[in-house]
Amino acid sequence: MTANTKLVAGNWKMHGRRDMAAALAQAVCAGAPAGVDAALCVPFPYLAQVGDALTNGPVALGAQDLSEQDEGAYTGEVSGGMLAEFGCRYVIVGHSERRARHAESSARVAAKAARAVACGLTPIVCVGETLQEREGGQTLDVISAQLEPVLSLGADLVAQLVIAYEPVWAIGTGRTASVAQAVEVHGAIRHALRGCAPEVADAVRLLYGGSVKPETAPGLFAGEDIDGGLIGGAALDAASFLAICRAAAAAAR
Ligand code: PEP
Repeated sequence: MTANTKLVAGNWKMHGRRDMAAALAQAVCAGAPAGVDAALCVPFPYLAQVGDALTNGPVALGAQDLSEQDEGAYTGEVSGGMLAEFGCRYVIVGHSERRARHAESSARVAAKAARAVACGLTPIVCVGETLQEREGGQTLDVISAQLEPVLSLGADLVAQLVIAYEPVWAIGTGRTASVAQAVEVHGAIRHALRGCAPEVADAVRLLYGGSVKPETAPGLFAGEDIDGGLIGGAALDAASFLAICRAAAAAAR
């Protein structure tokens, strides 16, 4: 990885069946272009199978959540150590669906990010405002508050992060943020990074997520401080995901 190699991570969410997972992972692995870092963040039950399909290939394995605990009596939770044992490189933390459905606070998201790094994983920390917050002019305040606990973890940890800006109103809705809207928020995140960890701020990759499609990817990836994408729906189709990866590779050149 270099600072200007873009990262495109697929978030399969709770989609898939065993045969579909194998076929999709194999197709993505076979078609992944050079010049981009690609990853698939898959449901826990498919980690072993998708990990096998990706072995020695150009696409990294990722998960969609982890516990902030090391191990113990935490029924239903999955530890970072377990993810590392299955070959995961990335783990999404603080996705808006988890913040909303599981009441994950930003402090807990930061604890999860720290746990991921302690286990040798790269956390993809998601932040984003709701439509009501955007319309109320609160976007940058909301992002800043969501980031504050994770940026307080110190420069060494911040250097290990990927941050994904995912406006809640754009996730799964078909409504992508405009390039100008994404660039404004990414610029604010970069500014916050420079404030707390100037020596590593420019190397932290900032992904945009929210209804990215092959048609919208080139414009977004050309935007200042947009270092790749977190891709939901379009990651469930190999041709679409690979087209987005090619757009990211082209934008990095
Ligand atoms: C996501 O869930 O992280 C996401 C970006 O989803 P979608 O691309 O479907 O909006």
